[in-house]
Amino acid sequence: MINRNDSGLSIRESSNVVNENVVNENVVNENVVNENDLNDTQKYKHLWVQCEKCYGLNYKKFLKSKMNICEYCGYHLKMISLDRIELLIDPGTWNPMDEDMVSLDPIEWDSSEFDSSEFDSGEFDSGEFDSGEFDSNEEESYKDRIDSYQRETGLTEAVQIGTGELNGRPVAIGVMDFHFLGGSMGSVVGEKITRLIEYANNHSLPLILVCASGGARMQEGSLSLMQMAKIASALYDYQVTKNLFYISVLTSPTTGGVTASFGMLGDVIIAEPQAYIAFAGKRVIEETLKTTVPEGSQESENLKSKGTCDFIVPREFLKLTLDMLFDMHFFRNRK
Ligand SMILES: [Zn+2]
Repeated sequence: MINRNDSGLSIRESSNVVNENVVNENVVNENVVNENDLNDTQKYKHLWVQCEKCYGLNYKKFLKSKMNICEYCGYHLKMISLDRIELLIDPGTWNPMDEDMVSLDPIEWDSSEFDSSEFDSGEFDSGEFDSGEFDSNEEESYKDRIDSYQRETGLTEAVQIGTGELNGRPVAIGVMDFHFLGGSMGSVVGEKITRLIEYANNHSLPLILVCASGGARMQEGSLSLMQMAKIASALYDYQVTKNLFYISVLTSPTTGGVTASFGMLGDVIIAEPQAYIAFAGKRVIEETLKTTVPEGSQESENLKSKGTCDFIVPREFLKLTLDMLFDMHFFRNRK
């Protein structure tokens, strides 16, 4: 009898389990519906860009005509280097230099031995380039990663250099692109910037460097750190020996080795509003010093009040401001 009761119970229990399974099936069906919604969101993801500050969705098609400024909060979103060149250089005057220079793998980087969470550029990624991307690519070799970024961005490296005219005045300009491996500075980025400075030096051109970088490129180890000294000495010749005029433009984010070298060496340093400018990132400081970095303390407004930069210029006035600064410089030198 006891056995029968037991078996009876077990049958009832199992029927309950079956019912639960039915419920679960319903849940599964709901999930399927949600997944379809998600697929729709994914399907149209490429049409929108989410603001890093207010999380508002900006329609990509109109974003370029608005200079990548968020229509809800006015935050200056990241810009690809090509758009930046279009914004600053007169149409039809852009002459790129050293476009075929490509990174090799000088120290045969093995990413599997490395904790990608410490990767400089990973920290500042948001929106399209979240740090998750670095995790999923963890097993890719450095060379493969360069290849895939080249396919994605159509660029050969994280900086574009060249000459062009700014309101009719010839200038040498280098524009970093955060979308290429977090704008990190490896030996090719350093070499291209150095060559640009030397070209500007030889042709007595004013120089603009637009910074956007997660810092030195870890995959090239100390070779990327050497770029800081190389660029700084080329700038010494340019600024001190030849007395030529260099303006650095700091966009969000400008960090690490770029901040610590040419970012801070401009005769005039311009920052974009609310741009994240730092040497070490917030997370690194907090983990190392076990303190909290106050909100906004690494943004251009706070840094300007400490004397780190000279002007904060909204994007729509950037070309005009550069033009005025060059006017003043050449007027002073003419006297
Ligand atoms: Zn916004």
